[in-house]
This record gives sequence, C-alpha cells and structure tokens, in this order.
Amino acid sequence: MKPEPAPPLKYLAAYPAHVLAQVQSLLEQGQLGLMLLKKYPCAHAVRTDKALYDYVQEIKATKLRGSEPLSKVAFDSKLHVMAHALGTHTTVSRVQGSRLKAKREIRVATLFKDTPIEFLRMITVHELAHLKERAHDKAFYQLCCYMEPDYHQVEFDLRLYLTHLDLGGKLDWPASPLYVLNLKIS
Ligand SMILES: [Zn+2]
Repeated sequence: MKPEPAPPLKYLAAYPAHVLAQVQSLLEQGQLGLMLLKKYPCAHAVRTDKALYDYVQEIKATKLRGSEPLSKVAFDSKLHVMAHALGTHTTVSRVQGSRLKAKREIRVATLFKDTPIEFLRMITVHELAHLKERAHDKAFYQLCCYMEPDYHQVEFDLRLYLTHLDLGGKLDWPASPLYVLNLKIS
C-alpha cells in the first residue's frame, strides 16, 4: 500500500511521486513562493461581489452560452477552500408560489480576492463547468479545458500556492499598474 503523502502536500495528493519530489525540493530550498511570484507577477482587480459577478458572467456569456442563468455570484469567507474542489456551485431550491424554483449560485473562497487572475479564472471555469456537468469526469474536464486551455497547469499551480499558504506562506501579489490605472489590455 502506498504511504499517505506528508500533510504539507495534501493538495497535491493526486500527482505522481516524481512531481511531489520536485515540489518537496522547492519547498526545502524556499523557492516555491518565488517561483509562483515569477510566473504570475501580479494580482487581479476583481475585488467585490459585483465585480466577481460581472467577471463570471463575461466568461459564461462567451464560453458557455445557453447555460442556466446564475442567480448569485459571491466571494465567501466561510468557504473552506478544498471542501469542494476550491469553490462551490449549489442549486438552491426555493418555493415560489406553488412551485419549486431551482436557483444556481456560485461561491468563490475569499482567498481568491488576493491572487493572480489565472487562479480566479480557473476556479470560475471549474464552477461554470458544473452548470453543465455535475461529476468530475472526462466530459467535465473537457469543458474546463475548452473554456481555459491551460486549465490543468493552472490548477496544479494553484495547488502549489495552496500548499505554500498552508505552510504559512501567504504571497503578496502586487497590483498590476494597468489595473491601478483602470485600463484593460484584453
Ligand atoms: Zn467541482
């Protein structure tokens, strides 16, 4: 039987041993945080629930047309990051008049306020994909990769950051000068 991975690498348990060995080595050399800051140089500017709603809707409208409407999108400080693969998608049933109406909500853990846009995009794509595919199966990940071709790499990098965070290493991503000036480059 394979031994359980050491607790610091719990976010990476699904990856092969040679990858974990590399991560362990980066951690021992204190290089993991620097590597992440180099690859993803700045924070995004999606700071409020309203901004998050607009951000999610834009991806939904361009990449997942025809999917069910969302009634709510919000940052959630009570959300445990890994309770459900980094975010939650819920179908809340409420009685409206005499019938039950299902409402779709997306909640994103508050820690994603202070990350690069790539991480926020990955979690957004993950939760949007659940509007069409419930299980984490092949069709689900195909949809994720359709919306974000680099999905798997970014998820891995995000898990590296969560590992770093778990060891007390919150990274302070600087705001992009472009965001400060409120310009958009894409
Ligand atoms: Zn999921």
